[in-house]
Amino acid sequence: MDALWPSVCGGCGVHGAGRLCGACRRRDLTRLPIAVQGLRGCWVLAPYDSGLGAALKQAKARGDSGLGQEVASLFAIRAATTVIQADFTAIIPAPSTPWSRFKRGFSLAAVLAETLSATTSVPVNHALTRRHGSRQVGLDRAGRLANLAHRVRADVPLSGRVLLIDDVLTTGATADTCVRELLGTGASEVWLAVVCRANTYKAKRDPLTLAAAAW
Ligand SMILES: [Zn+2]
Repeated sequence: MDALWPSVCGGCGVHGAGRLCGACRRRDLTRLPIAVQGLRGCWVLAPYDSGLGAALKQAKARGDSGLGQEVASLFAIRAATTVIQADFTAIIPAPSTPWSRFKRGFSLAAVLAETLSATTSVPVNHALTRRHGSRQVGLDRAGRLANLAHRVRADVPLSGRVLLIDDVLTTGATADTCVRELLGTGASEVWLAVVCRANTYKAKRDPLTLAAAAW
């Protein structure tokens, strides 16, 4: 099939090296110091302005579930050892709105969580739900927090140390809201793992991205 229709890397556009080429896959999980209240720690695989970040954007913008799965498989391979050693009771995807799932055909955070669960045998818990509201794009952290208030809910009782999963960490507003809900419903510790962190967004004013920029 590759001879007739050479695959194109979703990260850098190189032909014939799969949906995610070797160069774009060359990333390792790293600890990221971030300022989200109640969050015990964060791991990230790559900056957003990387081949992996480009693949992530393309998977979302085009509703390309095959490319999304490719990114999720790499994320699971890189995160597996850390997740198994940390002894989490559940993997919890950051919630997407029903509209974004309909538009894209899938929730990338859910695909990431389910693939990581299949690799590590830590169960997925879809504890968080998110009602429809205004988009987060273009808002600063305070604006995002206000926009998310009362729209994210944890409906399932939790216990122990849980791992929140999201595709991109931008201002930390989504993480902040999710962490508060998860701690409020019984989790003893919340950790976060993301594929990419944004590295330019409001860097001068936002302490979270200042910390991220230093990484
Ligand atoms: Zn590539």
